[in-house]
Amino acid sequence: MFALTLFPLQPTTYNLQPMSRLALYRKYRPMTFDSLVGQDHIRNILKNAVQQNKISHAYLFSGPRGTGKTSTARILARAVNCENLQKGSPCNKCEICKAALEESLTDLIEMDAASHTGVDNVRDLIDKAQFSPTRAQRKIYIIDEIHMLSKPAFNALLKTLEEPPENTYFILATTQPHKILDTIISRCQRFDFHRIGLEPIVDVLKKVAKEEGIKTDEEALKIIAHNAKGSLRDALSIFEQITYKNEITMDGVKQNLGMASSNVVKQFIDAVRGNRVTEALTYVSDLLAEGIDLGQFTNEVLLFLRVEMLEAVEQDNKQDAKNLVDLINVFLEANTGLKDAVISQLPLEMAVVKACRKATLESEKSEESSEEKKEIEESEKPETPKVPETPETPKKKDHKKFTIESLVDSIEKASVRTILKNATLTQDKKSVGIRVSSDFAREQLEMAENNQILITGVRSLFGEEAKIKISVEKQKGVNEDDVNKIFG
Ligand SMILES: [Zn+2]
Repeated sequence: MFALTLFPLQPTTYNLQPMSRLALYRKYRPMTFDSLVGQDHIRNILKNAVQQNKISHAYLFSGPRGTGKTSTARILARAVNCENLQKGSPCNKCEICKAALEESLTDLIEMDAASHTGVDNVRDLIDKAQFSPTRAQRKIYIIDEIHMLSKPAFNALLKTLEEPPENTYFILATTQPHKILDTIISRCQRFDFHRIGLEPIVDVLKKVAKEEGIKTDEEALKIIAHNAKGSLRDALSIFEQITYKNEITMDGVKQNLGMASSNVVKQFIDAVRGNRVTEALTYVSDLLAEGIDLGQFTNEVLLFLRVEMLEAVEQDNKQDAKNLVDLINVFLEANTGLKDAVISQLPLEMAVVKACRKATLESEKSEESSEEKKEIEESEKPETPKVPETPETPKKKDHKKFTIESLVDSIEKASVRTILKNATLTQDKKSVGIRVSSDFAREQLEMAENNQILITGVRSLFGEEAKIKISVEKQKGVNEDDVNKIFG
């Protein structure tokens, strides 16, 4: 998928640190149609148009940010003037291409409407549009964020588009095409840029990592790509921010993207399914307190549920699949709500209450007679759940206090026992705090296998709903901020 032309500027010299934000995006901007990522439908049409010399006077490129609109506009602008076309793409070597790349070609005018919304600027632009190109064959205007133009400015542009000067061409780009007057759209050849798929983005990140000498692994890159939501620019920006000492690690990715560990995600879902409302709500407040991004967390919950749904379908388990679809719907709703929530955690809390209620209904449905079932459904009819101040009372369980010694005794694995022997224990109604003496000890306890052993041990003594917090005891006592992780 990648031609070498993706890296035509400085193929061998890299100044790795410090990298400014977006430096990589600029550095790895596609330079030919063939190196455009994920927009095959547009690339081929434009290449053909250039080769057959059938260029429209106006193009409209619409689509989400970071999907290659401006890059495509620049490639096209060079291609239509290139003195040595390469299969429809600019050579990037001739005088005109070089001048365009150095931004010194006067016949290529790039404007950002977001910063030039006045009518005067557009009039000025239109005035200049009437003059013939000076150096190149064609005069090209690239106007970015065209929807930001004021209405009078739009009208002024429209007049020019109605009768474009012979050698003048417009490439308009926007993230919000619905804000553009139909009269403008109808005069443009329109191309809709799509969000770029996960795989093409991962491929670019791999390539960049290799070129930049950055050590990383595929899983980390997938998470970055997933978070970029189809924007290559965002993907490279995240990649850049997370790179530390020429390396990208899973931990770095999770930390930087405000992700909870997959363990927490699973246990949160277990709590919801087990109808343990209070416990599930506590997860939400704890995640918030730890600075975990709730939107991100909800995404992870959705990813987790999606995998289970696909498995249920594969196994032809219709009931499970249906339940999972219901659950996914509840969290999808929360995901949308989180984006502009007044109380940041409220949509997720509502989802918890709603999902727990569904879980209760499901289990009651399967247990009780059909007559009783009807009654429950009737009484539960009002669909909107109340604010989660009144979650259902969780099943009461007596939590037994226990000592660190009894916990040590309940565990067989020697290394876990050793760590726990030096730990101190705190307990309240629903949680168990374990303070260990070093980061290393904490990391050991957080390793998946040890983590499970610990949870099993604690729950056997304390009760099934035990939440476990691990913290590191510093020399001068424990700082609340040192509560590093929650699980259980
Ligand atoms: Zn050229």
